[in-house]
Amino acid sequence: MFSGCDPLKILRFEKAGKTAWGVVNPESGEIREIAGPPFDGIRYAGGTQRLSEVRLLAPVVPSKIVAVGLNYKDHAREMGKKIPAEPLLFLKAPSALNRPGGDVVYPSATQRLDFEAELAVVIGKVAKNVKEQDAPPVILGYTCINDVTARDLQAKDGLYARAKGFDTFAPIGPWIETDLDPSALRVRCLVNGEARQDGNTREMGASVGRLVEFISHVMTLYPGDVIATGTPPGVGPVKVGDVMTVEVEGIGSLTNRVVAP
Ligand code: MG
Repeated sequence: MFSGCDPLKILRFEKAGKTAWGVVNPESGEIREIAGPPFDGIRYAGGTQRLSEVRLLAPVVPSKIVAVGLNYKDHAREMGKKIPAEPLLFLKAPSALNRPGGDVVYPSATQRLDFEAELAVVIGKVAKNVKEQDAPPVILGYTCINDVTARDLQAKDGLYARAKGFDTFAPIGPWIETDLDPSALRVRCLVNGEARQDGNTREMGASVGRLVEFISHVMTLYPGDVIATGTPPGVGPVKVGDVMTVEVEGIGSLTNRVVAP
Protein backbone atom coordinates (compact mmCIF):
# COMPACT_ATOMS: atom_id res chain seq x y z
CA MET A 1 0.00 0.00 0.00
CA PHE A 2 1.03 3.58 -0.48
CA SER A 3 1.02 4.82 3.08
CA GLY A 4 0.55 8.54 3.19
CA CYS A 5 -0.79 8.64 -0.38
CA ASP A 6 -4.34 8.99 -1.59
CA PRO A 7 -6.20 5.79 -2.36
CA LEU A 8 -5.72 4.84 -5.99
CA LYS A 9 -7.52 2.71 -8.54
CA ILE A 10 -4.83 1.18 -10.75
CA LEU A 11 -5.68 -0.44 -14.07
CA ARG A 12 -4.15 -1.66 -17.31
CA PHE A 13 -5.59 -0.85 -20.68
CA GLU A 14 -5.05 -1.10 -24.38
CA LYS A 15 -5.70 1.61 -26.90
CA ALA A 16 -4.68 1.66 -30.56
CA GLY A 17 -2.46 -1.37 -30.04
CA LYS A 18 -0.62 0.20 -27.11
CA THR A 19 -0.77 -1.30 -23.61
CA ALA A 20 -0.31 0.96 -20.58
CA TRP A 21 -0.96 1.27 -16.88
CA GLY A 22 -3.02 4.04 -15.44
CA VAL A 23 -4.83 5.45 -12.43
CA VAL A 24 -8.55 5.95 -12.95
CA ASN A 25 -11.14 8.21 -11.41
CA PRO A 26 -14.36 6.29 -12.18
CA GLU A 27 -16.55 9.31 -11.36
CA SER A 28 -14.94 11.61 -13.91
CA GLY A 29 -13.99 8.76 -16.27
CA GLU A 30 -10.44 10.06 -16.55
CA ILE A 31 -7.38 7.80 -16.64
CA ARG A 32 -3.96 9.25 -15.89
CA GLU A 33 -1.25 7.15 -17.53
CA ILE A 34 1.61 5.96 -15.34
CA ALA A 35 5.12 4.96 -16.39
CA GLY A 36 5.47 1.19 -16.06
CA PRO A 37 4.10 -1.15 -13.43
CA PRO A 38 2.95 0.33 -10.11
CA PHE A 39 4.99 -1.90 -7.80
CA ASP A 40 7.85 0.53 -7.15
CA GLY A 41 5.59 3.56 -6.79
CA ILE A 42 3.48 5.66 -9.11
CA ARG A 43 5.10 7.94 -11.64
CA TYR A 44 2.65 9.80 -13.83
CA ALA A 45 3.62 9.70 -17.50
CA GLY A 46 1.72 12.83 -18.53
CA GLY A 47 -0.92 11.32 -20.82
CA THR A 48 -4.61 11.00 -20.08
CA GLN A 49 -7.33 8.76 -21.52
CA ARG A 50 -11.09 8.39 -21.22
CA LEU A 51 -12.24 5.23 -19.44
CA SER A 52 -14.99 4.83 -22.06
CA GLU A 53 -12.47 4.88 -24.92
CA VAL A 54 -10.01 2.19 -23.81
CA ARG A 55 -10.15 -1.58 -23.63
CA LEU A 56 -9.54 -2.69 -20.06
CA LEU A 57 -7.06 -5.52 -19.49
CA ALA A 58 -6.53 -7.67 -16.41
CA PRO A 59 -5.00 -5.14 -13.98
CA VAL A 60 -2.01 -7.42 -13.33
CA VAL A 61 -0.18 -10.23 -15.10
CA PRO A 62 0.55 -12.62 -12.24
CA SER A 63 3.34 -15.21 -12.12
CA LYS A 64 0.77 -17.33 -10.26
CA ILE A 65 -2.79 -17.23 -9.01
CA VAL A 66 -3.04 -18.89 -5.61
CA ALA A 67 -6.61 -19.81 -4.76
CA VAL A 68 -8.18 -20.91 -1.50
CA GLY A 69 -10.88 -23.57 -1.26
CA LEU A 70 -13.67 -23.61 1.35
CA ASN A 71 -12.63 -20.39 3.04
CA TYR A 72 -16.14 -19.11 3.87
CA LYS A 73 -17.90 -20.73 6.81
CA ASP A 74 -21.32 -20.36 5.17
CA HIS A 75 -20.08 -21.73 1.81
CA ALA A 76 -18.45 -24.73 3.53
CA ARG A 77 -21.81 -25.44 5.23
CA GLU A 78 -23.63 -25.32 1.88
CA MET A 79 -21.13 -27.84 0.47
CA GLY A 80 -21.71 -30.09 3.51
CA LYS A 81 -18.12 -29.56 4.62
CA LYS A 82 -16.19 -27.88 7.41
CA ILE A 83 -13.66 -25.13 7.03
CA PRO A 84 -10.28 -26.88 6.90
CA ALA A 85 -7.97 -26.41 9.89
CA GLU A 86 -5.36 -24.96 7.55
CA PRO A 87 -6.14 -23.00 4.36
CA LEU A 88 -6.66 -25.35 1.42
CA LEU A 89 -4.60 -24.06 -1.51
CA PHE A 90 -4.64 -24.72 -5.21
CA LEU A 91 -3.19 -22.93 -8.24
CA LYS A 92 -5.08 -21.48 -11.15
CA ALA A 93 -3.06 -21.43 -14.37
CA PRO A 94 -1.79 -17.91 -15.17
CA SER A 95 -2.73 -18.66 -18.79
CA ALA A 96 -6.39 -18.66 -17.67
CA LEU A 97 -6.14 -14.89 -17.09
CA ASN A 98 -9.06 -12.96 -18.55
CA ARG A 99 -9.95 -9.28 -18.70
CA PRO A 100 -12.99 -7.22 -17.69
CA GLY A 101 -15.53 -7.74 -20.46
CA GLY A 102 -13.64 -10.72 -21.90
CA ASP A 103 -15.52 -13.81 -23.01
CA VAL A 104 -15.42 -16.93 -20.82
CA VAL A 105 -15.34 -19.96 -23.12
CA TYR A 106 -17.59 -22.87 -22.07
CA PRO A 107 -15.35 -25.90 -22.75
CA SER A 108 -16.90 -28.84 -24.57
CA ALA A 109 -15.30 -31.13 -21.93
CA THR A 110 -17.68 -29.95 -19.18
CA GLN A 111 -21.42 -30.13 -18.56
CA ARG A 112 -21.38 -27.91 -15.46
CA LEU A 113 -19.69 -24.51 -15.51
CA ASP A 114 -19.90 -22.48 -12.28
CA PHE A 115 -19.15 -18.89 -11.29
CA GLU A 116 -17.32 -18.13 -8.02
CA ALA A 117 -17.23 -14.47 -6.97
CA GLU A 118 -14.13 -13.71 -4.88
CA LEU A 119 -12.07 -10.93 -3.36
CA ALA A 120 -8.61 -10.98 -4.97
CA VAL A 121 -5.47 -9.79 -3.19
CA VAL A 122 -2.76 -8.31 -5.43
CA ILE A 123 0.76 -8.64 -4.06
CA GLY A 124 2.99 -5.57 -4.34
CA LYS A 125 6.35 -6.72 -2.99
CA VAL A 126 8.38 -9.94 -2.91
CA ALA A 127 6.98 -11.78 0.09
CA LYS A 128 8.52 -14.80 1.81
CA ASN A 129 7.80 -15.97 5.36
CA VAL A 130 5.69 -12.89 6.11
CA LYS A 131 3.90 -12.78 9.45
CA GLU A 132 0.19 -11.97 9.50
CA GLN A 133 0.72 -8.59 11.14
CA ASP A 134 3.35 -7.70 8.51
CA ALA A 135 1.07 -8.51 5.56
CA PRO A 136 -0.33 -5.02 4.75
CA PRO A 137 2.95 -3.59 3.35
CA VAL A 138 3.33 -6.47 0.86
CA ILE A 139 -0.20 -5.99 -0.49
CA LEU A 140 -0.60 -3.55 -3.39
CA GLY A 141 -4.39 -3.68 -3.21
CA TYR A 142 -7.57 -5.58 -3.98
CA THR A 143 -9.70 -6.43 -6.98
CA CYS A 144 -12.46 -8.82 -8.07
CA ILE A 145 -11.90 -12.30 -9.49
CA ASN A 146 -14.26 -14.90 -10.89
CA ASP A 147 -12.84 -18.34 -10.07
CA VAL A 148 -14.66 -20.02 -12.96
CA THR A 149 -14.89 -23.77 -12.34
CA ALA A 150 -15.87 -26.85 -14.34
CA ARG A 151 -17.64 -28.41 -11.33
CA ASP A 152 -18.11 -31.86 -12.84
CA LEU A 153 -14.42 -32.12 -13.75
CA GLN A 154 -13.43 -30.96 -10.26
CA ALA A 155 -15.36 -33.91 -8.81
CA LYS A 156 -14.23 -36.35 -11.51
CA ASP A 157 -10.51 -35.51 -11.38
CA GLY A 158 -10.15 -34.98 -7.64
CA LEU A 159 -7.40 -32.50 -8.59
CA TYR A 160 -8.19 -28.95 -9.64
CA ALA A 161 -5.73 -28.20 -12.45
CA ARG A 162 -8.15 -28.97 -15.27
CA ALA A 163 -11.40 -27.87 -13.60
CA LYS A 164 -9.99 -24.45 -12.69
CA GLY A 165 -7.42 -24.04 -15.42
CA PHE A 166 -9.11 -23.70 -18.81
CA ASP A 167 -8.18 -20.62 -20.82
CA THR A 168 -10.41 -17.63 -19.90
CA PHE A 169 -11.32 -19.12 -16.46
CA ALA A 170 -9.71 -16.31 -14.46
CA PRO A 171 -11.41 -12.98 -15.19
CA ILE A 172 -9.92 -10.30 -12.94
CA GLY A 173 -10.50 -6.58 -12.50
CA PRO A 174 -11.68 -3.97 -13.22
CA TRP A 175 -8.89 -2.24 -11.27
CA ILE A 176 -6.78 -2.54 -8.13
CA GLU A 177 -8.10 -0.56 -5.18
CA THR A 178 -5.08 0.33 -3.04
CA ASP A 179 -6.85 1.50 0.10
CA LEU A 180 -9.39 -0.96 1.43
CA ASP A 181 -10.05 -2.80 4.68
CA PRO A 182 -10.80 -6.36 3.50
CA SER A 183 -12.34 -7.60 6.75
CA ALA A 184 -16.06 -6.89 6.08
CA LEU A 185 -16.80 -6.45 2.38
CA ARG A 186 -19.95 -7.56 0.59
CA VAL A 187 -19.13 -10.01 -2.24
CA ARG A 188 -21.80 -10.75 -4.84
CA CYS A 189 -22.23 -12.57 -8.12
CA LEU A 190 -25.05 -11.61 -10.46
CA VAL A 191 -26.07 -13.69 -13.45
CA ASN A 192 -27.97 -11.75 -16.11
CA GLY A 193 -28.50 -9.05 -13.47
CA GLU A 194 -29.97 -11.39 -10.86
CA ALA A 195 -28.12 -11.88 -7.56
CA ARG A 196 -26.92 -15.47 -7.15
CA GLN A 197 -24.23 -15.05 -4.50
CA ASP A 198 -24.43 -12.51 -1.70
CA GLY A 199 -21.83 -12.94 1.03
CA ASN A 200 -19.45 -10.99 3.18
CA THR A 201 -15.71 -11.39 3.78
CA ARG A 202 -16.39 -11.39 7.53
CA GLU A 203 -17.40 -15.05 7.02
CA MET A 204 -13.90 -15.92 5.84
CA GLY A 205 -12.16 -18.63 7.86
CA ALA A 206 -8.63 -17.41 7.19
CA SER A 207 -8.28 -13.63 6.96
CA VAL A 208 -6.30 -11.92 4.21
CA GLY A 209 -3.36 -11.44 6.60
CA ARG A 210 -3.46 -15.08 7.64
CA LEU A 211 -3.52 -16.16 4.00
CA VAL A 212 -0.47 -14.04 3.15
CA GLU A 213 1.32 -15.57 6.14
CA PHE A 214 0.31 -19.13 5.30
CA ILE A 215 1.01 -18.94 1.56
CA SER A 216 4.28 -17.01 1.87
CA HIS A 217 5.61 -19.75 4.16
CA VAL A 218 5.03 -22.19 1.29
CA MET A 219 5.97 -20.21 -1.81
CA THR A 220 7.50 -16.83 -2.48
CA LEU A 221 4.92 -14.32 -3.63
CA TYR A 222 6.01 -11.87 -6.32
CA PRO A 223 4.69 -8.45 -7.28
CA GLY A 224 1.54 -8.96 -9.31
CA ASP A 225 0.76 -12.38 -7.87
CA VAL A 226 -2.89 -12.85 -7.00
CA ILE A 227 -4.57 -14.61 -4.09
CA ALA A 228 -8.19 -15.62 -4.77
CA THR A 229 -9.51 -15.70 -1.21
CA GLY A 230 -12.42 -18.13 -1.60
CA THR A 231 -16.07 -17.80 -2.47
CA PRO A 232 -19.22 -17.16 -0.40
CA PRO A 233 -22.37 -19.32 -0.64
CA GLY A 234 -24.58 -19.59 -3.68
CA VAL A 235 -22.23 -21.00 -6.31
CA GLY A 236 -24.11 -22.33 -9.28
CA PRO A 237 -24.06 -23.06 -12.97
CA VAL A 238 -24.21 -20.82 -16.00
CA LYS A 239 -24.93 -21.55 -19.64
CA VAL A 240 -23.75 -20.13 -22.94
CA GLY A 241 -25.01 -16.56 -23.32
CA ASP A 242 -25.21 -15.83 -19.58
CA VAL A 243 -23.54 -12.68 -18.28
CA MET A 244 -21.71 -13.01 -14.95
CA THR A 245 -20.94 -9.98 -12.80
CA VAL A 246 -18.72 -10.16 -9.72
CA GLU A 247 -19.10 -7.23 -7.34
CA VAL A 248 -16.90 -6.53 -4.33
CA GLU A 249 -17.86 -3.66 -2.07
CA GLY A 250 -15.43 -0.76 -2.28
CA ILE A 251 -13.87 -1.99 -5.53
CA GLY A 252 -16.35 -2.21 -8.38
CA SER A 253 -17.68 -4.84 -10.73
CA LEU A 254 -16.28 -7.37 -13.19
CA THR A 255 -18.54 -8.55 -16.00
CA ASN A 256 -17.93 -11.45 -18.41
CA ARG A 257 -20.14 -13.31 -20.86
CA VAL A 258 -20.13 -17.09 -21.31
CA VAL A 259 -19.63 -18.08 -24.95
CA ALA A 260 -19.65 -21.35 -26.88
CA PRO A 261 -16.32 -23.04 -27.64
MG1 MG B 1 -12.88 -20.40 -5.58
